[in-house]
Amino acid sequence: MRYAKLAKADLPKLFQSLKGYGEVFAPVEERGKLFFKKVEDLKEVKLAYTRTLLPPKKLFLQPEEEIMSYEGESYTEKLDGRKAVLFGVHACDINGFLKLDRVFLDAPRDEYYARRRENTLVVGITCVPDKYCFCTSVGSGYASGGFDLFLHDLGKEYLVRVGSGEGYRLSKQDYFKEAGEAEVKLAAKLEEKRAGKLRRKINLMGMGDLIETEGKEGWEELTAKCLACGTCNLVCPTCQCYDVSDLLTLEVRKGTRVRRWDSCMLKRHALVAGGLNFRPTVVERTVNRLSCKVGEEVRCVGCGRCTVYCPAGIDFVEMLSAVRGEAR
Ligand code: SF4
Ligand code: SF4
Repeated sequence: MRYAKLAKADLPKLFQSLKGYGEVFAPVEERGKLFFKKVEDLKEVKLAYTRTLLPPKKLFLQPEEEIMSYEGESYTEKLDGRKAVLFGVHACDINGFLKLDRVFLDAPRDEYYARRRENTLVVGITCVPDKYCFCTSVGSGYASGGFDLFLHDLGKEYLVRVGSGEGYRLSKQDYFKEAGEAEVKLAAKLEEKRAGKLRRKINLMGMGDLIETEGKEGWEELTAKCLACGTCNLVCPTCQCYDVSDLLTLEVRKGTRVRRWDSCMLKRHALVAGGLNFRPTVVERTVNRLSCKVGEEVRCVGCGRCTVYCPAGIDFVEMLSAVRGEAR
C-alpha cells in the first residue's frame, strides 16, 4: 500500500480534485442528523461525525430506482455510468460495502450496483464513535480495503492510505507529501486509542446456535415492543433485500420496472403466491434478521444505527446479550 500525507490546510485542494472526478456526496448536517448528500463546497461537509441516518450504500443500491423501461418486446435498461465520489466514509460503512460487494459483484453480477460501485471513488475518514458503536467486536473497526483513499486524522495533517489505482493517481498531486514509518505508527496508535474508547462489546461466539435454540417465550419477551416497522433494515449498511415492481401504463404494453429497498421485518416480505406467509410473526422475522446479521456469517458491521433509530427503543446488542443469557 502507498502512504501519503495531506496537510489539513490542503483539504480544499483535494476536494477540488474530487469534484474534477465526479459529483461529490459527503456527510451534511440537517436538523441535527447527518445525511450523505451531493455537495458543491467543502464548507457544507461535516467531516467529524458519528453516523449518518442512512448508510452511504444508498448511492450504489438506491432506495428506489427505475431499472428498465419497456414497450412491447423492446426494453431499455437504465444503467448509470456517471462518475461520483463518496467523501468522508467511515470504516464500518466501507466494510459494509465489502459485504454488499460479495452479494452484488459475485456471479450473477448486479450490473446496476456494479456500475455505480466501479464509477465511484470512496474516500474514507477516521470516525468519532459514540456509546452505540461496536465495530471492533465484529471486525469492522478498520478498513483494510474497499476504498480509494483513507484519511487518518493526525491533528494538523492526515495520513492517507492509498487503496486503488485511481487513489494512487490522486495521491500524485503536488499537495500530497510522502509519508513514512513515523506517520503510519502514529496513525496506528491513534486508531488503537479510538478503538479503546469503544465501551460497547458483543460476544458472537456460538451466536448462530444460541439464536436458533432460544425458546418461544424468550423471543416473545424480547420482541414484545417491536412495531415491525422495518426501520432497522432500512438504516442497516449491509441489508440487501429489494422488491421489484412493474408499473404499467394504461396501454399495458408499456411500462417501467422499479426496484425498492425491502425489509424482512415487514409482514408482507415473506408472503408468496397462494397467500402463504412463511414468516408471519414478529418473532420469526426477528430470528431471521438476527441470524442473517450474526448467524453463520457475521454481516453486522457494528454501526449502531438499528439501535439508535429503532422507534421502540430495541437495542440490538442488548437483545443478543439476552439471547446469550447475560441480561434480560
Ligand atoms: S426498528 Fe425496532 S420496532 Fe422497527 S422492526 Fe426493527 S426492531 Fe422492530
Ligand atoms: S445490524 Fe445494526 S449495528 Fe449491525 S450493521 Fe446493521 S444497522 Fe449496523
